[in-house]
Amino acid sequence: MQQPIKRDDLLPTKGTTTPLQEIPSKRTRLRSYSGFHHAEAEILTPSSVEALAAIFAQAQHQGRRMSLRASGFSLDTQALHDDLSVSLSALRQIKHIDTQEGTLVVEPGALWGDVARALLPTGWMTPIMPSSPMISVGGTLSSNGVSRMSPIHGREGEHVLQFRLLTPRGEMLACSRQQNADLFYAAIGGFGYFGAITEITYKLQRLDQRRNVETLIDKFDQYDDIFDRLRDWTRSPDGWDSVSAPLLCGPHYQRGMIFRSRYTDKPTGPLYFPHRQHHPLRVLTEMLMRHSWFSQRIWRMIYRFFAPRNQTFVDPLLGYSFFFDAQRKMRRFTEFFGIPSPLIQQGFVFEGEGGRAFLKEEAAPLLQAHQIWPLLTDALYLPADAFLFSPNYQRAGFAVTMAFVDLRGDRFERTRAVLEQLSERCLARGGRLWLTKNAFASPACLRAMFEATRSPIMRLKQQADPHHLIRSPFVEKIFALPTHEGV
Ligand SMILES: Cc1cc2nc3c(=O)[nH]c(=O)nc-3n(C[C@H](O)[C@H](O)[C@H](O)COP(=O)(O)OP(=O)(O)OC[C@H]3O[C@@H](n4cnc5c(N)ncnc54)[C@H](O)[C@@H]3O)c2cc1C
Repeated sequence: MQQPIKRDDLLPTKGTTTPLQEIPSKRTRLRSYSGFHHAEAEILTPSSVEALAAIFAQAQHQGRRMSLRASGFSLDTQALHDDLSVSLSALRQIKHIDTQEGTLVVEPGALWGDVARALLPTGWMTPIMPSSPMISVGGTLSSNGVSRMSPIHGREGEHVLQFRLLTPRGEMLACSRQQNADLFYAAIGGFGYFGAITEITYKLQRLDQRRNVETLIDKFDQYDDIFDRLRDWTRSPDGWDSVSAPLLCGPHYQRGMIFRSRYTDKPTGPLYFPHRQHHPLRVLTEMLMRHSWFSQRIWRMIYRFFAPRNQTFVDPLLGYSFFFDAQRKMRRFTEFFGIPSPLIQQGFVFEGEGGRAFLKEEAAPLLQAHQIWPLLTDALYLPADAFLFSPNYQRAGFAVTMAFVDLRGDRFERTRAVLEQLSERCLARGGRLWLTKNAFASPACLRAMFEATRSPIMRLKQQADPHHLIRSPFVEKIFALPTHEGV
């Protein structure tokens, strides 16, 4: 039986007097954003890096295990573990914006909405932001965030100059491409497995007066046309900052649109409804879209009547970036009335052209056979990178992501079964899962997908956290790593 950490037990740290008194702690039931994964953990929320170091030391001393956490938007078990859960959410200061050099220094618990609002008047912006303003900076860096800008500008990690990592050994390491480079490429996207990121320095993109985003929408009746254009327009963007494709995948239809977007100083208007996060009808629409029969009809209507070829919209930058926040608001609203609003997202990433054949020959027939339809499927052509947990590790290609919200009754189990089958087919075509999302797949399938980087991950874990203070059931499942439970 483990002894609970007592406030008075925590080791005093140099520079602080009584770090324990500032740590509120309580045992809480945690769940994933999807709603299907749970943990029961004692939550500690340090209000300083010194208090965090004290928690690491004392937990190690008592043989406890922990995972790190921030806003809790993870869809799978990325931020769940049953013993201790250390939340970085109180370290949320925006420390410095350098408008000469175009850099930002920020604490990990800062929310993207606060960061974007602070940057907007300066004429600088981070190139990659998540689609909800309530997600933390440390949380997205630990999953190496992707946005619709990523096909052109890369993942979030590409824009990080340096971060500070507090390892469970108690070392504070500066990590960059020049210093502790192996940890730089592991901890970005590493789901908090090697320690806590305590400060991040981003290189910003200069926008000056371009505080709106212009989006040009083209629609296509065939998947092949979409994938051809997506690849070509991503490789030669011709001034566009984003190329992405929402695909409609339903009974007997396979079509979609390509959105090309760029920052602009043009005045706003016309506005695109999905980019209007505060529109009074957004929450209602999100609620109705949870029913497949409704969403299929709406998508077909939008495609037919409201997405004429070459239509252009100009939206405020924050509306464009945080377009998915209506999902969170709808969920808060329905849960207030005791109605759960689960969400499953799973992404499949392939080298080169692989995603096209996967969608046409594997996913669409399987979805049709099981009569399970995603709310939305989207495709991006993502560049290769060097991050150890990335599905694009050393290879560029199409990523295909599906979001499911109609999960009533036995639909969750049926959807899960379909996704597990699709994971096997993804592996057979040389693909990998996008680890930021859900990962419904067998352990053998996951291990085979990520075998290439398993050894360096194990070696770095041994260096940074030899006593395995930090546990991640998610990372251990993906890479088939030893759990060291009971050690
Ligand atoms: C509505 C919604 C919209 C989303 N939009 C996008 C999007 O546009 N792009 C995208 O890429 N993803 C998106 N996601 C996924 C989301 O960005 C990731 O799940 C992200 O990791 C969540 O961060 P969080 O702040 O909620 O942290 P949590 O979910 O609490 O934690 C996320 C992971 O980071 C680790 N972690 C957190 N803080 C630290 C730290 N300081 N040091 C080390 N490890 C840490 C945790 O251990 C965990 O593994 C979205 C998810 C939802 C539900």
